[in-house]
Amino acid sequence: METTLRGVGVSHGVAIGEVRHMGTAVLEPPARQIRPQDAPREQARARQAAEAVGADLNARGQLAGGEAQAVLEAQALMAQDPELLADVDRRIAVGSTAERAVYDAFASYRALLAGAGEYLAGRVADLDDVRNRIVARLLGVPMPGVPDSDEPYVLIARDLAPADTALLDPALVLGFVTEEGGPTSHSAILARALGVPAVVALPGAGELAEGTVVAVDGSTGEVFVEPSRDKQAELTELAAERKAALAASSGPGATSDGHKVPLLANIGGPADVAAAVSAGAEGVGLFRTEFLFLDDSARAPSQEKQVEAYRQVLEAFPEGRVVVRVLDAGADKPLAFLSPGDEPNPALGVRGLRTLLDHPEVLRTQLQALAEAAAGLPVYLEVMAPMVADRRDAKAFADACREAGLAAKFGAMVEIPSAALRARSVLQEVEFLSLGTNDLAQYTFAADRQVGAVSRYQDPWQPALLDLVALSAEAAKAEGKSCGVCGEAAADPLLACVLTGLGVTSLSMGAASIPYVRATLAKYTLAQCERAAAAARATDGADEARRAAQAVLSGE
Ligand code: PEP
Ligand code: MG
Repeated sequence: METTLRGVGVSHGVAIGEVRHMGTAVLEPPARQIRPQDAPREQARARQAAEAVGADLNARGQLAGGEAQAVLEAQALMAQDPELLADVDRRIAVGSTAERAVYDAFASYRALLAGAGEYLAGRVADLDDVRNRIVARLLGVPMPGVPDSDEPYVLIARDLAPADTALLDPALVLGFVTEEGGPTSHSAILARALGVPAVVALPGAGELAEGTVVAVDGSTGEVFVEPSRDKQAELTELAAERKAALAASSGPGATSDGHKVPLLANIGGPADVAAAVSAGAEGVGLFRTEFLFLDDSARAPSQEKQVEAYRQVLEAFPEGRVVVRVLDAGADKPLAFLSPGDEPNPALGVRGLRTLLDHPEVLRTQLQALAEAAAGLPVYLEVMAPMVADRRDAKAFADACREAGLAAKFGAMVEIPSAALRARSVLQEVEFLSLGTNDLAQYTFAADRQVGAVSRYQDPWQPALLDLVALSAEAAKAEGKSCGVCGEAAADPLLACVLTGLGVTSLSMGAASIPYVRATLAKYTLAQCERAAAAARATDGADEARRAAQAVLSGE
C-alpha cells in the first residue's frame, strides 16, 4: 500500500528506486556461550565470512586500482591473517559465538597495533573496518559505510558526513533521503552538487526496509513508499515537464529589466567543473577547497597537488570569475592534523580562518599554490577566508595573501553575525564580501546545522537572516564593493529574487540549481524584487516571509 512521508526537499527532481541503507557502525555482539558440539559449525562460519570479506576487498581493490588497491589488498590480508584466524578458532572452541570470537580476536590484535608506533597505529582504522565487515556478514546486517550495490539505488542515511560522501559513486546514487540534516547540511549540499533529488529531516527514514521501492520528490519533500505504477508515471512526467521548462532558459543571470546578477557555481573540486559549465555558470562563486584535504586526514596535500587541482578549475573559466575559499577545517569538517580533538563545542571553537591562523604554514602553502596555478591565466581570481569575525581577522587574512604574493582580490565570508553587523569595518581590509548563509543562520539562531530537530532555524527565509544580508549588502554598496551570496539560500529561486532585492550582487549555488534560479529571476524586475524583499523583511517568521514575497511577485 502506497504511503507518503514528508521531509524537507533540498534538491530538485524525482528519483525512483530501491532503498539501500548507509551501514552504521557495527555494535558489539553479545557474549553468549555456545554448546561444545556447535563449535565446528561456528568455526566454519567464521572462516567463510573472513574469506568472503578478503575476496571482496581484493575485488574492490582491482576495480579501484592505484593507491586504493594497495590499501584494500592490505586489508584483505588482515581478513585472512592465519594467526588472527587461529585465535578466532581458539575462542570459539572455548564457547564463543563466531561473531563474538572475531570481535574479541580483532580487539586484542588492535591493542597490539595501537601501541606499535605511529605507522602501525595508523592502520587501526583499517583493521576496525575489516572487523566490522566480517562481523556484519556473520550477523547478516548491512556492511558499514556506503552500500555495496551494482544497481542504482536511493541512499538512506541518518546524515552524511563529507568523508562518507567522498566514497559515493555518483553513477549509482539516484537520490538521498536522510533522517537528520537541514537544507544546509552537507547531505543537501552534496545532493545539489551531484544534481540528484534529495529529502532531508525525514524522521523514520531509517525504518524503511532495504529494497523497498520509493519515489523521492526533492522539490516538495515528499517520499512515496511503494508507489503505484500510475504514481510513478505521473511523477516521472512531472519531472520531465519541469526540466523542459528550465532547458528553455539560458544566458547570464539578470532580472527581466536587465539588472545583471551573475550566477556562479559552488564546487568542491575539478570533478564538479563539467556540471557547472553545462549549467551555464558564469564562473565559480565558492570553491570549497577542503574536499582536496579529505583524502588524507594525516597531512595537507602537497603544493604541487594543490596547484594541479586549482589549475584545472581556473582553466575551465578562462574569462570568468573564480572565487576560491581557503581551507575551512574544523567543526563538521575536522582534519586530524589541524583540528583540536578535545573542544567541548567545535562549531564555536577553532575552525575556518581560526585554524589557518594557528597553522600559518598550511595557509601559506595554499596561497602560494593558488598564485602558481593562476600565473599566466586570464582568469579573475578571488580568494576568500571562511569564518571571518571582525576587522582584525580580515586584516590577518589580507596580510597573508599579500605575503604570499597573490595577484587576486581578497575577500571575507560573512558567516558570523559580528561580521555582518560591522561589515563596513571588515571592508576596510578586503575587497569583497560573500555571505555564507548556512553558517550565518547557524550562528544567528544558535542552531546546529547538522541537527534535524532544529532545522526550522536553518530556514534562510528567517527575517533576522534577511536583515543581516541587507546590512552586509548596504555596507558593500556604501564602500563601492561587491557582496555575493554563496550559501544555500542562493539556490532557492524565489529567495534568490529577494536576495537580489536586498542588494546582493551575485548568487552562487550548486550547478543543478542555476537553471531554476535563472528562469525565476528573469521573470521579475529589480523593483519587484526590492518590493518582495521589503515585504519579507516586514514579517516575523520564515513561512510568512516566503508567503509575503510570493504575494508581491505574483501581483496578489
Ligand atoms: C556557508 O556556511 O554558507 C558556506 C557557504 O560554507 P559551508 O557550507 O561550506 O560551511
Ligand atoms: Mg560555512
